[in-house]
Amino acid sequence: MARIGFIGLGNMGLPMAQNLLKAGHHVEGFDVFGSAVEKLRAAGGEVAASVKVAASRADAVITMLPSGKEVREVYLDGTGVLASAQPGTLLVDSSTIDVATARDVAEAAAGRGLSVLDAPVSGGVGGARAGTLTFMVGGGEEAFAKAKPILEGMGKTIVHAGGAGNGQAAKICNNMILGVSMIAVSEAFVLAERLGLDHQKLFDIASKSSGQCWSMTSYCPVPGPVPASPANRDYQAGFTAAMMLKDLKLAQDAARVAGSATPLGAEAAALYDLYCLHGNGARDFSGIICFVRGTEMEV
Ligand code: NAD
Repeated sequence: MARIGFIGLGNMGLPMAQNLLKAGHHVEGFDVFGSAVEKLRAAGGEVAASVKVAASRADAVITMLPSGKEVREVYLDGTGVLASAQPGTLLVDSSTIDVATARDVAEAAAGRGLSVLDAPVSGGVGGARAGTLTFMVGGGEEAFAKAKPILEGMGKTIVHAGGAGNGQAAKICNNMILGVSMIAVSEAFVLAERLGLDHQKLFDIASKSSGQCWSMTSYCPVPGPVPASPANRDYQAGFTAAMMLKDLKLAQDAARVAGSATPLGAEAAALYDLYCLHGNGARDFSGIICFVRGTEMEV
C-alpha cells in the first residue's frame, strides 16, 4: 500500500481521498480550505501543513484542483510539488485543465527527472463517492502502469490515452460531445412539446432509434423517462452548468490553438455562457432545456 499526498480536498478530491483510505493506502492531505482537511482527518487520514510537506514524504502525489492556474502554482512554485517530491515519486493531476498547462507541467517535471500523469475524470461527485470514476490518462507507459492500481481505488475504468496532455484532450472532447448533445436532445423535446408529441413517446421511440445518446437515455432533460435524471429533482446539480461551461471553454481554447473548426462546440459554449449569466451556474447542466424552452430567460 502506498503513502499518498492528496492536494485539493473539494467536492471531488475529498471522496476520492476517502476511497484511497478505504483501499488501505496511507493518505496525507492538504487543502487551502481548513474544513476540507478536517473531514479527511475524521475519515482516518493525516493532515499536511503545506504542499511541500504532502509532496516530500509521499510515494505518490495526487492533485484535484479547480483549474490550470492552481495546478501551475501547486506544481511549479518554489515550494511546490516538483521542487519537493523525492526522485521516483509518482505524480498524478486529476483536475480538468487546459492541455497546454498539462504539457508544460509534464515538461517541467521531466526536467527534474519526475513524471506527471494528467488523469482527469468523468463521473462527477456521485462517481467520486462510489469509486466508479473513469480516468483518462496522459503520460508515459511506465508511470501509467505504476498509477493504475492506485487509480483503481477511486475508479472503475482507467484508460491510457497516450502521451502528456492526452488525458485532458480526451476529457474536453468527450465533454464537448456531451454539451452539444444535451442541447440537441433539449431542442428535440421542446419541439416535440410544441408539436403535441408526448415526452415519454418521443423517449420510447428516439431511445431505440438513431437519435439515441447518453444525454437522452441516461440523463434525460425532461422529468419522467429516466427517473434518476436531475430533471426529476428540479435540475439540482449532479454536474453543474458552470462546470460544463468551463469544459466547453477549454475545448474552444484548444480548438483555436489546434486550428480545428468546432462551430457546434462554439455555439454550445455561447449558450451555456448565457445560461450561467442568467444565474443558473449552480443548476444541473441539463437544465439548459428550460433556457431552450424560453422559460428561463429572466435573472
Ligand atoms: P472544488 O472547488 O470543490 O475543489 C477544489 C479544492 O481545491 C478546494 O477545496 C480548494 O480549496 C482546493 N484548492 C484550491 N487551490 C489550492 C491550492 N493552491 N492548494 C491546495 N488546495 C487548493 O472543485 P471540484 O468540484 O472538487 O473539482 C475539482 C476538479 O475536478 C476541477 O478541475 C473540476 O473541473 C474537475 N471535475 C469536477 C467534477 C464535478 O462534478 N465536481 C466532475 C469532473 C471533473
